[in-house]
Amino acid sequence: MKEICTYEKCTGCTACANICPKSCIRMEPDQYGFLRPVINPVACIDCGLCVKVCPNNGIIEKKYPRVAYAAWSLDDKDRETSTSGGVSSVLSSLVVNNGGVVYGAAFQNGCVEHIRVSQPRELHKLKGSKYVQSNLTNVYTLVVQDLLEGRSVLFWGTPCQTMGLKSFINNKRIKELGDIIYGDIICHGVPSQKILNDHIKSVIGAKGKESYSLSFRDRDGYFLTIRHNDKLFYRKGFPQDKYLNGFQYGLFHRECCFECQYASGERISDVTIGDFWGLGETTYPKKKVSVVLCNTAKGVKLIDSVRDKLFLEERSIQEAIQGNSQLQHPSRKHEFYNFFHWAYPNLGYRMAVNCSLLKFYLKYFIFRTLYRNRRFQVWYNKKRA
Ligand SMILES: Cc1cc2nc3c(=O)[nH]c(=O)nc-3n(C[C@H](O)[C@H](O)[C@H](O)COP(=O)(O)OP(=O)(O)OC[C@H]3O[C@@H](n4cnc5c(N)ncnc54)[C@H](O)[C@@H]3O)c2cc1C
Ligand code: SF4
Ligand code: SF4
Ligand code: SF4
Repeated sequence: MKEICTYEKCTGCTACANICPKSCIRMEPDQYGFLRPVINPVACIDCGLCVKVCPNNGIIEKKYPRVAYAAWSLDDKDRETSTSGGVSSVLSSLVVNNGGVVYGAAFQNGCVEHIRVSQPRELHKLKGSKYVQSNLTNVYTLVVQDLLEGRSVLFWGTPCQTMGLKSFINNKRIKELGDIIYGDIICHGVPSQKILNDHIKSVIGAKGKESYSLSFRDRDGYFLTIRHNDKLFYRKGFPQDKYLNGFQYGLFHRECCFECQYASGERISDVTIGDFWGLGETTYPKKKVSVVLCNTAKGVKLIDSVRDKLFLEERSIQEAIQGNSQLQHPSRKHEFYNFFHWAYPNLGYRMAVNCSLLKFYLKYFIFRTLYRNRRFQVWYNKKRA
């Protein structure tokens, strides 16, 4: 086997590596730090399973949502410590408290990877959006083990990760004993851990490499906050922080994100969560409100079972889709994407990011200077209204 799917389309989901009967596929970082399958040609028996399991080689079945909600956790602390409305935390607690297990993304030793959580005291590790591609390691295989042992499993991932797991389970043809709930988060693209590490190094130096803690959003909005030994080292918001800037505008995305097959109103999961952008008239403040899409009967039932834990207001599905561009089309490439991807391996992160964002910061600086002028302010605000 030479190639499982085209280079541009590979999402790094690991389905191929997990299914290979000869364990001859390793996930290795490319020059940008994105994990990709590398086949050991000597061990490969050409069985074709890796090609079959790859979601890029088949028809992806999607479902239009049955119902959409604006929602948040009624537990104020839970909502406060989540990135959006805390819906994922409420659903994860339900599954773990009933003896099931949850898989989701967590910081582990300075890296983001998927972990298995079976104890309520460990659920906090999954909280918060980590704006980087999480490493799935052998998680799909662990999920199948749990199912075979009769446990209920809730899996959270970006849509391509959740689809990879679905395809893996379907191709394993196991007679499931446990129940699997597929959850996905709305996702507009992922940078690699290498790019994030290089950014952190560029803003705080080598110190804290092992033990820093990170967050990308807090009550004030998008802020990259780095703490080391409980000391605040760095806190800058969007658009001043270059990582948040590059992330938001697609400078750092994995190539496949620009052709994302999952960026549509039709979904591959039982339940989809994201930010409720574009929320119309409400009787409540619009901050920290999640959008919840129940895409299957299982998703509807799941949300019904936590009605006492969530504020839930049914909204139109159209409203949910129209407000969130990622439910309509994939992200567009940043105008300096190709430049950054040439410069990063050749000139290093600092030079690559500074040059790629130079035009943005020049325009931003000019705007900020003009905005100090009262007459410009009035003219600008009138134009925007
Ligand atoms: C890379 C990325 C891009 C996103 N883009 C959008 C977008 O364009 N539009 C939008 O509406 N929402 C987007 N979100 C989702 C949004 O930021 C919230 O995470 C989501 O609304 C869930 O909020 P919450 O309050 O329920 O849970 P939170 O506590 O905020 O999130 C925790 C849940 O998200 C999962 N998670 C966190 N980081 C990752 C990761 N790197 N990979 C896989 N799963 C992860 C965890 O497993 C956990 O289940 C994005 C999230 C990520 C990670
Ligand atoms: S063809 Fe079969 S043995 Fe070869 S890499 Fe793919 S899954 Fe593994
Ligand atoms: S199965 Fe996933 S990791 Fe493997 S080639 Fe396909 S997209 Fe890439
Ligand atoms: S944008 Fe699409 S392809 Fe990229 S990480 Fe998100 S779900 Fe996967």
